[in-house]
Formats: sequence, C-alpha cells, structure tokens
Amino acid sequence: MEEKKTVLSVKNLSVSFTQYERWIKRTTLLAVKDVSLTVREGELVAVVGSSGSGKSLLAHGVLGILPYNAAWSGEISYYGEKLTEKRMGQLRGKEIVLVPQSVSYLDPLMKAGAQIRNGKRDQGSMGESLKTLKRYGLDETVEKLYPFELSGGMTRRILISTAVMEKPKLVIADEPTPGLHLEAAKRVLSHFREMADEGAGVLLITHDLELALEVADRIVVFYAGTSVEEASASDFRDERLLRHPYSKALYMAMPDHGFCAAPGAQPYIKDRPSGCPYAPRCERREAKCLEKVDYVSLAGGMVRCVKAEEG
Ligand code: SF4
Repeated sequence: MEEKKTVLSVKNLSVSFTQYERWIKRTTLLAVKDVSLTVREGELVAVVGSSGSGKSLLAHGVLGILPYNAAWSGEISYYGEKLTEKRMGQLRGKEIVLVPQSVSYLDPLMKAGAQIRNGKRDQGSMGESLKTLKRYGLDETVEKLYPFELSGGMTRRILISTAVMEKPKLVIADEPTPGLHLEAAKRVLSHFREMADEGAGVLLITHDLELALEVADRIVVFYAGTSVEEASASDFRDERLLRHPYSKALYMAMPDHGFCAAPGAQPYIKDRPSGCPYAPRCERREAKCLEKVDYVSLAGGMVRCVKAEEG
C-alpha cells in the first residue's frame, strides 16, 4: 500500500510570551512546551485537552498568527519543506486554512453567501456558494442571511464553507463545536471527516474527547501546554492500550466508563512543575518524574512518561 504523504510536521514546538510585572520586571511564560506531531494526507488528528492547556496556541503557532508578544521555536514543515513566514503567508487561506473558534471571524455586515464567495481568491460565483451551502446541509435562503440571523450550527457551517472554497490540503479547526448540541456538533465534525476522506490533512483542536473519537484517526493528548501522549483512536477502546496516566484518567472520566474524574486539577501554565507536568496528580510518581521527561515512541504511539511501558 502506498505510504500517505506527511502534510504537516511539527517538531519540538514551544511558544512563549514576554510579560512585564508591575511594568518593570520582565518574565517569560512558556505556554506551549516541546510539542511534536504529524498530520498525513487523508488523516484527521485531534489534539485533545481541557481549556487552558495551550491547544489553540499550537494552532496559531502553526499558522503564524501568534500575538505580537509571543515567540516560538521548533520546526514546522509542510509537505517536507520548512514552513517559513513567507511561505505560510502564500499558503494561508488557500492550501492551509483555519476554521476558527470565534464566530467573530465573520463580518457582521456581510451576508453569508458573500462571505462564502470571499473565501475564494478570485471571488467564487453564486453557483459555487449555493453548491457549498447545499454540501453542508443549508438551503439557499441562507445565502441572503446576515450572521446575526444564523443559529450556532449554521454559523459553524458557514465558517467551514468559507474555509473550503479553495479546496485546502491542510485544515486546522480550532474548537469548531462550542455551544452546539450533540447532534449539531457531530454533524459539524462529520464535515471534517469528509475533508480527510477526500485527501486533506485535518488537525482538529478540541476539548471533547468523546466527540473526537467519533471522527479522528489519531489523538494527541494535551496537558498543561504539552503533549503527553499520541495514540490511535482505536487505543481508546481499552484503557490498557493507553500509555500515559492522564490519558487513562480521561478514559475513566468518559460517560461509558463511569465518569470517574481524577483528583486534582491541571496546573496553570505559569505553575507547571518542572519535569512531568502531571506529577502532582499522579499516583505512580517517583523522584525521577521531577527531572526532564522526554516524549518517546512506544507501541506505535508517543508518550511523555518515564514509567510507561508496552502493555
Ligand atoms: S512521568 Fe511519573 S509522574 Fe509523570 S505520568 Fe509518568 S509516572 Fe506519573
């Protein structure tokens, strides 16, 4: 079988912010630390973590749209070539698209159809926007509606429509389902699965593991600004197949497994302990967990835990 090409490769990405305390003391906050992942053609990779874990910064770092006071290090490649600022500028909005978290990305004074057509470099035609609306289960009357007239689910589908007008090769979806009821959220995510099935690489950022498992090929588990495990979605069928104690805790917290939440809470990024970020909550911790913990390959996935072993 032909090996699928790697669309996106992120190696050791870190994102930091410069801050000033009382206007004088300069501090650096390492918000995303040492994250690596790949997305191949036809694959949907979900980055899953609770809010405040730094997932959206990962998306913005890849897209080169970090805030002005942020700095990043690491290596980002697209189809094997380094993704420089210049190259990203040429590809963003065309081959590489963001489906944003915030509905404020839509122009409140522009009708939905015009916003969809604007998603295309040379302005799409009315026929194309109507076809796209139909593809996402919206009837043609939506063409003439302003954003304030759309429901939450419709707005999400308009955001997707604007992003896909150029037939992107890499889609980055940043929390595309907030505020949607379960059925609407599943429908929105099924559109990302469709894009992957048509050959695009899709990176989905979400807090909802259960929904992610419905559509993803692989799951990257995020905790306190870093990736702690990468597993195939099928590994989440059985807790014993998971490599990291936090992934196991997420598994146990799912409705089908008894809603058993792990004690404690994720630390604020600024309070992240050195060594393993999960150590304060981990029953298995020992002295070596407080030293540097590398992200290593294990059983077809990746893990950041000194005690992880092949199950
Ligand atoms: S490195 Fe240690 S503290 Fe961290 S998850 Fe593994 S066993 Fe627990």
